[in-house]
Amino acid sequence: MSSLLSIDAVCKRFGGYTALDDIRLEIRQGEFIALLGPSGCGKTTLLRVIAGFMAPDTGRIVIDGQDVSHLPPHRRPLNTVFQNYALFPHMSVLENVAYGPRRQGVARAEANSRALASLELVGLAALGNRYPREMSGGQQQRVALARAIVNRPKLLLLDEPLSALDMKLRKRMQLELKHLQEKLGIAFVFVTHDQEEAMTMADRIVVMNAGRIEQIGAGTEIYRAPATRFVAEFIGEANLIAFEASRDGEIRLAMQDSVAPAPRPDAPARGLAVLRPEHLQVLDDANPGCDGLCRLTGVLSDVISVGSHTMIHADIGGHAVLARAMGLPNAGMLPGSPVRLGFHPSHLHLIGEHA
Ligand code: ATP
Repeated sequence: MSSLLSIDAVCKRFGGYTALDDIRLEIRQGEFIALLGPSGCGKTTLLRVIAGFMAPDTGRIVIDGQDVSHLPPHRRPLNTVFQNYALFPHMSVLENVAYGPRRQGVARAEANSRALASLELVGLAALGNRYPREMSGGQQQRVALARAIVNRPKLLLLDEPLSALDMKLRKRMQLELKHLQEKLGIAFVFVTHDQEEAMTMADRIVVMNAGRIEQIGAGTEIYRAPATRFVAEFIGEANLIAFEASRDGEIRLAMQDSVAPAPRPDAPARGLAVLRPEHLQVLDDANPGCDGLCRLTGVLSDVISVGSHTMIHADIGGHAVLARAMGLPNAGMLPGSPVRLGFHPSHLHLIGEHA
């Protein structure tokens, strides 16, 4: 499918600080993209450059084949939903949503009917006569969405739109937003620093760090095969273990000098092996582990139960290792006691030293 939005070699500097460094990204029609990264990595700056609130120093923004780099925000075929909703307090909900079409010269009756259709999509058709102050946070967020989609933009930009909501409502809104996006077929670019939120909603996640793109991919792909150390540490929890590959297709892990068959034939010569905590199992009399497991022995440092699962912190020859087991801990798992852990070598993901 052809690109709806092309971000072509975009750079943006503030004084001596590079906020966006050669950003290149293609977004398809109807795609849900999350821009994910820690505070200050440049997510909002990139969104503002796409929206036209800020000009890039170099590079181009192309939407649907048209270079919009020099167009003001209102001339671009997109809309933006901000964190603080920015609803007009003196207008009813219906008037808020009808405002966009009215400004474009659409007659009142037609604008109201479009606004009503848009409110219907977000489940608020019955509340059009209310004022924003009479709506809950989640409802106000839906009004902001209805207002942003009333003119059916090709692209909707959303800057942390759920961050003001409490956790439960936020999780519900994530699913609602995803379903709404699928129904509308409008491409969404959604800024968040919350990896779970990005994983829940996005078709593809763009992981950013210090003004650069570290990796682009589906959430599961990024989790399973992080391209860099930064991504491995930022997405989920990870044990990162230095390794060297030998000529005979084995890799030697720094930790306890364990040797494992290389998980892939083109393994880099050295770098970091990523091992997710859920891929480490506790071995004991009840679970001796199957053939082919790599085994580690050490001492438990902390055992933390969060109900649904248990986090097991172990010291393996001076390396801190984290394992996650389903359910509650076994009775004998006390800090200071010996522990045996096992993992299958196919669960090691190798990152070359220059990544
Ligand atoms: P957050 O999640 O905290 O909103 P972010 O990833 O959206 O962070 P940006 O707001 O894009 O980060 O900012 C990127 C960097 O650029 C930050 O270091 C910020 O201080 C800087 N920056 C952003 N806007 C300006 C500006 N107008 N003038 C100077 N520096 C700026």
